[in-house]
Amino acid sequence: MRIGIDLGGTKIEAVALDQCGETLFRKRVNTPQGDYAATLDAICALVQEADQILGSRGSVGVGIPGTISPSTGLVKNANSTCLIGNPLDQDLSERLERPVRCANDANCFALSEATDGAAAGAGSVFGVILGTGVGGGLVINGQIVCGPNSITGEWGHNPLPWPNNSESSAAPCYCGQTGCIETWLSGPALSRQYQKLSGLDLSADQIWKLVRDNDPLAQAISQQYYRRLAKSLASVINVIDPEVIVLGGGLSNESSLYEAVPALWGEYVFSDSVATRLVPAQFGDASGVRGAAWLWPQTPVKA
Ligand SMILES: [Zn+2]
Repeated sequence: MRIGIDLGGTKIEAVALDQCGETLFRKRVNTPQGDYAATLDAICALVQEADQILGSRGSVGVGIPGTISPSTGLVKNANSTCLIGNPLDQDLSERLERPVRCANDANCFALSEATDGAAAGAGSVFGVILGTGVGGGLVINGQIVCGPNSITGEWGHNPLPWPNNSESSAAPCYCGQTGCIETWLSGPALSRQYQKLSGLDLSADQIWKLVRDNDPLAQAISQQYYRRLAKSLASVINVIDPEVIVLGGGLSNESSLYEAVPALWGEYVFSDSVATRLVPAQFGDASGVRGAAWLWPQTPVKA
């Protein structure tokens, strides 16, 4: 049995999967805010509950915002700042008396979709999160590619490629740079673009609804969004050339992306044709937690 934990800013979700990926147990609790020790307690309680209900000791994988720094063994790049600087995998491992693997939540998402989701069977999969932030993860032959800095797939903090005149005024990004892809393609970025022209503060979902209702301003903004996403993904294709790109996160629910973006990206991909498939996540919000469980691909911990 594999136990996956998705450690989010507001919720901690746990699943237990059997050998075939069937869900045996699923539970969500609130994330203790700003309290590292309480966060450890909450994760351990979920694992122990799954163990107890299912009568066996599961392997444990945890998807986290940020990543474990290979150089220090401590969490870095996390927006849940109480995690930063702590050896999360070691602390959980000691408490749960078994090895625990932690990985970036976007990597877990990509692993889930590559293992038995929308990109199952593909040799190379780039998983993209389009939500409050913009992240990504790369899975090659069923394995997460982590990299010596543990940042593979962090395309959201590269600059928007091939900017046009209207894209020269770059917004600051929390990472310290300006004009990152995230500042153009995240949900808050879409809201900001609409607000700038309309004065209305709407969510990304509300803006996409206006697109479907033929609102001219929302439609103009959606056309810009398609092109920016196409350019940004083309720059990924030029480097990695993945077989499949899977979209997750709140913005991935917009079905028009899957036709509009591939219709544009050929202008930017260095190839006469583009065979890359752009697909929505099969497991939606559950992909992160399933991918955390799949961090143990082979032998789960023996009972
Ligand atoms: Zn940035």
